Amino acid sequence: MAIAEWLQKLKVGELSARELVDQQLARIKSVDNELNAYVQVTAERARKDADRIDKARLAGESLPPLAGVPLAIKDNLCTKGIRTTCSSKMLENFVPPYESTVTQRLWQAGGILIGKTNLDEFAMGSSTETSAFGATSNPWDLSKVPGGSSGGSAAAVAAGECMASLGSDTGGSIRQPASFCGVVGLKPTYGRVSRYGLVAFASSLDQVGPFANNVADTAELLKVIAGFDPLDSTSLKVPVPDYSATLNDSIKGLRIGIIKECFDQIGLDAEVKDSVLSAANHLQSLGAELVDITCPRFNDGIATYYVIAPSEASANLARYDGVKYGFRSANTQSLSEMTALTRSEGFGSEVQRRILIGTYALSAGYVDAYYKKAQQVRTLIRRDFDNAFNQVDVLLTPTSPTTAFTSGAHENDPLGMYLADLLTIPANLAGLPAISLPCGFDQNGLPIGLQLMANVLDEARLLQVAHQYESTAEVMKARPNTAELVP
Ligand code: GLN
Repeated sequence: MAIAEWLQKLKVGELSARELVDQQLARIKSVDNELNAYVQVTAERARKDADRIDKARLAGESLPPLAGVPLAIKDNLCTKGIRTTCSSKMLENFVPPYESTVTQRLWQAGGILIGKTNLDEFAMGSSTETSAFGATSNPWDLSKVPGGSSGGSAAAVAAGECMASLGSDTGGSIRQPASFCGVVGLKPTYGRVSRYGLVAFASSLDQVGPFANNVADTAELLKVIAGFDPLDSTSLKVPVPDYSATLNDSIKGLRIGIIKECFDQIGLDAEVKDSVLSAANHLQSLGAELVDITCPRFNDGIATYYVIAPSEASANLARYDGVKYGFRSANTQSLSEMTALTRSEGFGSEVQRRILIGTYALSAGYVDAYYKKAQQVRTLIRRDFDNAFNQVDVLLTPTSPTTAFTSGAHENDPLGMYLADLLTIPANLAGLPAISLPCGFDQNGLPIGLQLMANVLDEARLLQVAHQYESTAEVMKARPNTAELVP
């Protein structure tokens, strides 16, 4: 059910907020044992919030834009009084004393928290397999991963366990799981959405964004969470456009760039390539102009990211020392032993690997060769995009080189896992907004994702093009209903 459809039902009394919440909780109960999309379900609070909305409606009060919409929140966004674990043993019992700005805005808009979703530990990963609380499965095929790191948020939307959700995207963690789970996911421009209350991974790359079943719902959520926040020093002080208002504008004459380097990839699945190029042709049939674009440094993004992101992570994660909050190793004899054991026992192996890489890249004698060099390449990547956006309005690529892979496929192959982010990372390095939306299925029936990127703060354009595609493409009409996934 789309948000607009739900609000209509609520308004005329066809379905109450309480009934909807009860339906969602029943759905979670019946499928989440298999999916493990949720780390925690907040049933009692959800019912109370729903009753409040129903009361307000009966009293004739005007309803806010997300009234009664059941929402799932990635468990690296702080929720006051509600455990926020980052799917790590380190924060297993951490109860934040404050609320993140994005969630605060959702509750103010009438949204209802239904639960906190699973992720790769501290958002480091592309499969939601490194969670300390067990892996999440893909609702389209339980033997496949849902993508990551926001795999729980994507799977929950795909399986009808919530109406929409929030994730975070540092190198693709919203778009890649959206692609693997056949839903829409948007990473906003760096600074468009407040990061206050998001547990930091790599501060120059992290952004919070929505997942939804369709583009119009994505636009609704973005409208609510976007905008200046004095509590985040990187937040931009610019007005938020009405993203829903321009969804139906024609894309006639719009220039769409096809990045050559993305389609010449070794490892790009042929079915993914065909499906994404057909989507481009469909957009052309709607009046858009396709332009060949070259971004020579695009493929250097991954190497650049895997120096910058771990470097920032090694600094951000220094705070987990067993002193102030979180897990502390028991029975240690000295301060240094306590810190060492706390970090060895509290962090999983992927997080430890990132901290070691980052510490190495930042250490004296290596910082020039690695960290500084990576920053220079980052500038070159951004220049490629500047150049591209002088010629086109939007760039089009696949979201991920493959469809959802089998669980465990990259268990002993971290580099293979890192390659899953090849096509999503450049937008983070350049701070650009990007969206992933479904554009077809492979021969096994798994969804394929199309990525669109726009210039900074041009989310409205992304949503418009995505909506035009979604509402006219034949393949989208044959899309199975979420209720049919995971019977
Ligand atoms: N998969 C990437 C990583 O492991 C991106 C994660 C993210 O965007 N949070 O770092």
